[in-house]
Amino acid sequence: MPELPELDVLAENLAAQLQGAVVRAARVLSPAALKTFDPPVEAVAGRTVTAAGRRAKYVWLEAGGLYVVVHLSLGGRIVLGTRPAPRRGGLLALELEDGRVLAVTEAGTQRRAAVWVVRDLGELTRLGELGLEPTDPAFTTGHLAAVLARGGHTLKGMLTDQRLIGGVGNAWSDEVLHRARLSPFARPDRLDGADVERLHAALVTVLRAARAALAQQAGGRVELPRAAERGFAVHGRAGAACFVCGDTIRSVWMGERETSYCPTCQTAGRVLADRRRSRFLR
Ligand SMILES: [Zn+2]
Repeated sequence: MPELPELDVLAENLAAQLQGAVVRAARVLSPAALKTFDPPVEAVAGRTVTAAGRRAKYVWLEAGGLYVVVHLSLGGRIVLGTRPAPRRGGLLALELEDGRVLAVTEAGTQRRAAVWVVRDLGELTRLGELGLEPTDPAFTTGHLAAVLARGGHTLKGMLTDQRLIGGVGNAWSDEVLHRARLSPFARPDRLDGADVERLHAALVTVLRAARAALAQQAGGRVELPRAAERGFAVHGRAGAACFVCGDTIRSVWMGERETSYCPTCQTAGRVLADRRRSRFLR
């Protein structure tokens, strides 16, 4: 699932590629993906794309006073090309006057990606419920400390709760926690001042560096590089050696989410067998 760095680059490249383009036709390919009915998606036709942006894991396109907001979820993609949108897995297609087609597609069988068409982003209350993003200047160490003090989550659960911290998901939270040398299962309300400082620095530096690297790799294209090309330190690297200490990266599955970590760097050498059994190993 794309997170803050990926979607930031995607929004930037969408804006650069589409500003000034006129939408010839707008089609919903999977009615279940469209979460709004007024204004209809067809109303986007004839309008000129003026901007693109992002908030947490939502990407939006503004076309003449209407906003098309997309949440890609786990398997969604935005593709810009000259071919018609694929019939299989296609959710939405915007055909442009210049012959290009912007398609939102979703791989796999689970339909979770979603599209909204609104006149104002404020109509989407879910956007107003999102937590501050770590790259926001207002996201200070003090702000993070206040969020962590709420507790009630594992540290990993807290970092990925969009209502508390916007834009961080499964992959980059693993990377941030490794950089900060903190256990994914630590109690957030029990971190000391130095831990919070380290976590704050890791959030900001990991996400900024990821964004810069992705922007370079994408080279202005809307299609972003695959996860394997992102040079993760721990995420998805279970069984491989940690670049920092040489220990073997481990992972724990919770449902369909894999949490990767380095025991030496993050859990004082402890291997967490699974969430329930490792409850007291913090
Ligand atoms: Zn390590």
